[in-house]
Amino acid sequence: MSSLSRRMLIAGAGSAAAGLATGIVASPAPAHDPGEIPPGPSTITPSDTRYPDAQLRGYNKRFVGTPEAVRIVGSTDHVIQAVREAVRAGKRIGVRSGGHCLEGLVDDPAVKVVIDFTEMRDIAFDPARNAFTIEPGATLGQIYRTLYYGWGVTIPGGVCPAVGAGGHIVGGGVGPLSRQFGLVADLLCAVEVVVVDAARNVKAIVATNNPADPNYDLWWAHTGGGGGNFGVVTKFWLRQPGVRSSVPTQLLPKAPGGYLVGRAIWNWPDMTAAMFRQLCANFGAWHEQNSAPGSPGAALYASLIAPRFEAGRILVSGQIDPGVSSQVALLDSFLAAVGANVGPQPLVVKTPVQPWLNPTISIPDTAVSLGITGPPRSKTKGGLLKKRYTDQQIDVAYHHLTRADYSHKASVFTLASYGGQINALASGATATAHRGSIMLGSVFSAWDVPADDQRHLDWTRAFYRDIYASTGGVPAPNDINEGTYINWPDVDLADPAFNSSGFSAQELYYGANLPRLRRIKARYDPYGVFQHTLSIRP
Ligand SMILES: Cc1cc2nc3c(=O)[nH]c(=O)nc-3n(C[C@H](O)[C@H](O)[C@H](O)COP(=O)(O)OP(=O)(O)OC[C@H]3O[C@@H](n4cnc5c(N)ncnc54)[C@H](O)[C@@H]3O)c2cc1C
Repeated sequence: MSSLSRRMLIAGAGSAAAGLATGIVASPAPAHDPGEIPPGPSTITPSDTRYPDAQLRGYNKRFVGTPEAVRIVGSTDHVIQAVREAVRAGKRIGVRSGGHCLEGLVDDPAVKVVIDFTEMRDIAFDPARNAFTIEPGATLGQIYRTLYYGWGVTIPGGVCPAVGAGGHIVGGGVGPLSRQFGLVADLLCAVEVVVVDAARNVKAIVATNNPADPNYDLWWAHTGGGGGNFGVVTKFWLRQPGVRSSVPTQLLPKAPGGYLVGRAIWNWPDMTAAMFRQLCANFGAWHEQNSAPGSPGAALYASLIAPRFEAGRILVSGQIDPGVSSQVALLDSFLAAVGANVGPQPLVVKTPVQPWLNPTISIPDTAVSLGITGPPRSKTKGGLLKKRYTDQQIDVAYHHLTRADYSHKASVFTLASYGGQINALASGATATAHRGSIMLGSVFSAWDVPADDQRHLDWTRAFYRDIYASTGGVPAPNDINEGTYINWPDVDLADPAFNSSGFSAQELYYGANLPRLRRIKARYDPYGVFQHTLSIRP
């Protein structure tokens, strides 16, 4: 527990305990005069010397908000009070946890009050719910470390250690262990959310995965419904579904016994369009054959990273647990399969076997590793794939990666593993509708200075438009595409200039689950207090 949380716990303890018992916490009477004591330890306004730190917490420096106040919260009561005051004053609220939103959903000029979880980051075991609790401000790196040293367990979260739990879990959360254990959101068994009800009461609700819970739908909405839609999450409870034990070390996936990455590296100058087509086809075919839930191949997580040709090299990586001998054989056969018939032999490099934690939490920021000094400005566009791209789509990718009228080392096309245990659930079991995909495709660019914005946005948009030319410029559902992933928000999807598919952005993100999410939005946020450019509308 941070010292801040400890100091502020006393005020929040009563109502939180009541919430655990009853499921619903009525708006608590403040233990102090709200006129005298600010709702959080800090309310930072533009005249405060700390304002730039609070203002610039977002990862993507293309977006910098200008809120009238940043409320640094330390307890659920602080959140209730901050929301109540913002609602009374008619101020639009933004919620920030790890600050890794890819778009300006929080750093929006319309947002006047940011509720910031940077100091609310506890990770603990809760015997009352027989589950692990995580506060939204905890970063993935902290979570991996605390769960590992505390209990030898982990969650199947993303690769960037600085991503925050707040946005990551609500949007799904996918990473190297997801093919074995599902999305992080698949482990969510309860969530505490501050909402504004029809009587304009601001209250915290603990919603659980018990179908008899009157707030079951609110839990469901937080298993992939995306951040900033229904209320402010103040706590997550996680437990692996189906596990019957009260021993904490058995309630989440066991952390891998080690870390081994094998890489196959090709030099761009050796790579013709036909070779690139073969390489991507091999990568896709391997995933088509090795992504069924529970299949041996699901133990391997892979990525294909093809930056623009001036970056010099194309990299295919596979990651496994080296403590399991069958996984070592799997890595070797994967590397052989992706290289088959490509032409030039790749340089194959295996990292020395390492313990799992340190390399996992030391992965450098992608933009920085591509040579951006940062803090980066960036644009990411993604799509979920039920099978490999067609040869024609890969030729489009090759064209944009090699065309002579554009040059930038940090503009990249990627394919990454999906599927496995993620696809063990039915589409409607949680808010994450996409349960048939085997890969995530993306195109992104990162750069340093505002003067370069248009150049890189144009390249990224043209690449995406052309690769999805037959489906309205976006991954509209068909036999290959399954929409896209809400944790990779892309405001272009809501713009008819970039999306002529006939599918709305929300349909691409939520598929068949959208109508239910809309009903939940109407019930729990009837006044639309929580909204952003891509938010669910009732
Ligand atoms: C460099 C980088 C690497 C990434 N790698 C991965 C990866 O490997 N796997 C993956 O799945 N994703 C990845 N992502 C995407 C990431 O999961 C999402 O951007 C996620 O939403 C970030 O959460 P956050 O709390 O850090 O961001 P924030 O900017 O704080 O929030 C993101 C969204 O969630 C909302 N939100 C935040 N906190 C709360 C809360 N407490 N209650 C309600 N709403 C809230 C915000 O309002 C906003 O709409 C990556 C992103 C970046 C920038």
